[in-house]
Amino acid sequence: MTKLRLAIVGAGPAGIYSADILLKAEREFDVSIDLFEQLPAPYGLVRYGVAPDHPRIKGIITALRDVLDRGDIRIFGNVNYGTDITLDDLKQHYSAVIFATGAVRDSSLAIPGIELDGSYGAAEFVSWYDGHPDYPRTWPLHDESVAVIGNGNVALDVARVLAKHADDLLPTEIPDNVYSVLKQSPVTDVHVFGRRGPTSVKFTPLELRELGELRDVDMILYDEDFDYDDHDRAIVAGNKQVLVIDRVLQQWRQREIGQASRRLHLHFYAKPVEFVDDGNGRVAAIRYERTAPDGQGGVHGTGELREVPVSAVYRAVGYFGSPLPGIPFDEYHGVIPNHEGQALHTEDNTQFYGVYATGWIKRGPVGLIGHTKSDAMETVSHLINDLGNWWTPSEPSEESVVELLRSRGVEYTDLEGWHNLDAHEQALGAAEGRARIKVVPRDEMVRISNP
Ligand SMILES: Cc1cc2nc3c(=O)[nH]c(=O)nc-3n(C[C@H](O)[C@H](O)[C@H](O)COP(=O)(O)OP(=O)(O)OC[C@H]3O[C@@H](n4cnc5c(N)ncnc54)[C@H](O)[C@@H]3O)c2cc1C
Repeated sequence: MTKLRLAIVGAGPAGIYSADILLKAEREFDVSIDLFEQLPAPYGLVRYGVAPDHPRIKGIITALRDVLDRGDIRIFGNVNYGTDITLDDLKQHYSAVIFATGAVRDSSLAIPGIELDGSYGAAEFVSWYDGHPDYPRTWPLHDESVAVIGNGNVALDVARVLAKHADDLLPTEIPDNVYSVLKQSPVTDVHVFGRRGPTSVKFTPLELRELGELRDVDMILYDEDFDYDDHDRAIVAGNKQVLVIDRVLQQWRQREIGQASRRLHLHFYAKPVEFVDDGNGRVAAIRYERTAPDGQGGVHGTGELREVPVSAVYRAVGYFGSPLPGIPFDEYHGVIPNHEGQALHTEDNTQFYGVYATGWIKRGPVGLIGHTKSDAMETVSHLINDLGNWWTPSEPSEESVVELLRSRGVEYTDLEGWHNLDAHEQALGAAEGRARIKVVPRDEMVRISNP
């Protein structure tokens, strides 16, 4: 019987779901799957993006773990595609590869002052508070007044973590170094800026509602942003999600404020145009242009400029994929160019045989974890149908890849290693009455995985 030796690069939800879907799919060939992950631990942004105070979403890890624990997928953690293993290696050992490498960088934002001290990308901050091993251990949280740019859920996560009292994060899995920095944060005001109005936000209602539940934090809204036109009223009436969001915001507008030690301001119709320099290369304020609805769901500038004094700005304007050596890359969208998951040559859009994409590197950094499942189904069905176009590996044996990694001195982690790290983190947490305390340094993660 034909055998598909499949490499999957990236052990986030997209990579794990595609392995699972392929193993369960109706097919007329055998399958053996190796999952390569650059980090010593699997689960991608579920571990290193989803906020620590979202335990329900973090709980998706249990389902992903169940897939891995079946034992029919081999994991090679701490293996980076591009340095530890290359496209030529994959062609030598596998019939095909699915890239599920996600997106970890911040999208760029063309705005004067972006280079100033105190200007940060949300992805960097998220990676820090979620204990990503490749980011600095500390964070300069010295600011009383900060801005967050964006009206999506990542902006809400960042604003919430900045405004929340550190002790309220303690029951979560935040690393110790993160707790101690958040604990001494002098923040009093977090200002969130969105270019459009309250009926155009990309927040989901559950995540928005959560902001209003923060202890000792007043929600500040501005009456001028709620002068709805016919278009806004029609959206509120016709779209359940917008209706719920509007209800939440209207409730907050009725609240008594003034008692809390921290404030979270939502500024709508506010398009940031500059981060103002304090003269010493540091952010002193955010300058924005007041926008106005254009009656069709969009906005136009009014020319009126305003400033809010802040000493840090967090840009939550989206994530962006990274190019992979030897693999076509669409620089504009930050994805592998593809047709329903089949990679395409950039020059002429013809199929790049043997290479597939799924998850955020396939369709861009939008959508929830659940969407990566339907994505994976589409990609896997093409992979199955493309049987005639797979590579013919010269060294298809499972042992040959292990030998390759060993010969290169790659200190890879495997499923047992992950179990070791997982048990260790849970034990650290149990000692302090918490679910888990993450181990952050990469070498320590590897040492605990491979005792
Ligand atoms: C801040 C934030 C909060 C979020 N919160 C939620 C939420 O509450 N609920 C929800 O449903 N969704 C949430 N999401 C969305 C969710 O995280 C994504 O939908 C999902 O993780 C995308 O899955 P993926 O597998 O494509 O990518 P990822 O999860 O990014 O996984 C990609 C994996 O590939 C690995 N990799 C990358 N390059 C290489 C390489 N060269 N070699 C080897 N491995 C590599 C990475 O280390 C990573 O483990 C959030 C996203 C962010 C950014």
